[in-house]
Amino acid sequence: MTTPVGIVGDGRLAASLDEPENILVETPFGDPSDPLVRGTVAGREVVLVSRHGDDGRYPPHRVNYRANLWALRHLGARQVLAPCAVTSLCTTIGPGTVVLPDQVVDRTSGRRGTFFDIGQVRVGFAEPYCPSLRETVRKAAAAIDVSIVDGGTSVVVDGPRSPSRAEARWYAAQGWSLVDLTGQPEAALARELALCYLPVAVVTDQLAGWAEPGEQRRAAQTFTAHLDELRALLFTAALTAERAGCRCADALCGIRLPFTLL
Ligand SMILES: [Zn+2]
Repeated sequence: MTTPVGIVGDGRLAASLDEPENILVETPFGDPSDPLVRGTVAGREVVLVSRHGDDGRYPPHRVNYRANLWALRHLGARQVLAPCAVTSLCTTIGPGTVVLPDQVVDRTSGRRGTFFDIGQVRVGFAEPYCPSLRETVRKAAAAIDVSIVDGGTSVVVDGPRSPSRAEARWYAAQGWSLVDLTGQPEAALARELALCYLPVAVVTDQLAGWAEPGEQRRAAQTFTAHLDELRALLFTAALTAERAGCRCADALCGIRLPFTLL
């Protein structure tokens, strides 16, 4: 059975969906950031939730990640692409570069990071991202001539402050390449729902620039400038995304869950 492809990211990405409809989804974990948008791309169903709300009212530490992912699954999505804006820690990865990270370090605190507030549940997360979606996005990038960096470690921080220089030196010394504000707990929650999940990160700036006046505005402009390319990449990938060649669906096998996961 072909399931819709889920996207959690900038609501503007829904702009060119065919037959779009807004759907209010209630979840046991509260409301998603916005009504979801369901539509099609060349006949393939896509459901999208705007991570920060259509007016950006939810900062990264206030996003209801649990509701967003639950809602995507509720509408049938089993594969979730997660476009996001990130800051590069590497001089070799500049603004506008699309990166598919393969590891994550969670430096956030105080976020609701699990669905399993009761019960004794362990979920494997050694490999946080879906290899099948990665291959799909790699092929899509090649098909539409978008260059990508495949791999790298993102470190997720709370913000809104930038890392200090000492923190940045430490991150870089570990070999981590990106600073991200939303990748956790989103990725772990996706695994807890046995979803395929892959971040598609657009570098908007480099860490050295965070101290510069106007950098936030320039970073937002960089992301907007690459929005059409990002949309084309995601939608091209959606056309061929198949849930095969990965074990994400088995993430909860043998685990007694404290609720029914439909
Ligand atoms: Zn998968």
